[in-house]
Amino acid sequence: MSETIFTKIIDREIPATIVYEDDLAIAFKDINPQAPTHILVIPKKVIAKLDDVTPSDQALLGHLLLCIPKIAQEQGLSDGYRVVINNGELGGQTVYHLHIHILGGRQMTWPPG
Ligand code: 5GP
Repeated sequence: MSETIFTKIIDREIPATIVYEDDLAIAFKDINPQAPTHILVIPKKVIAKLDDVTPSDQALLGHLLLCIPKIAQEQGLSDGYRVVINNGELGGQTVYHLHIHILGGRQMTWPPG
């Protein structure tokens, strides 16, 4: 699988503001925030997109989701936040390393653009 800029963040080859890390996951501030708080949660395992996950990733995916409320609480998002996964071209994905956006600190609207 091809590596992306997110692999370089995992490997500390380029800087990022890391807000959470464990053996399986890392979370850092988005470089182009779309809300006052905009965090990306990614698996350390290289998975290009949600379409590419397999049943063997079940525990990893659960782990990523379980990280989110913990990170949100640490970031002070007690009034709510939005969780987004963009998948593929029409989903608006631009970096092909699976990631979960956490957006908060303002009122979210629906439908998204
Ligand atoms: P996508 O559009 O693929 O769902 O989201 C990719 C996100 O990665 C975008 O929100 C973009 O701002 C962010 N991003 C792209 N390159 C970098 C980078 O080098 N550092 C950080 N921290 N975020 C990045």
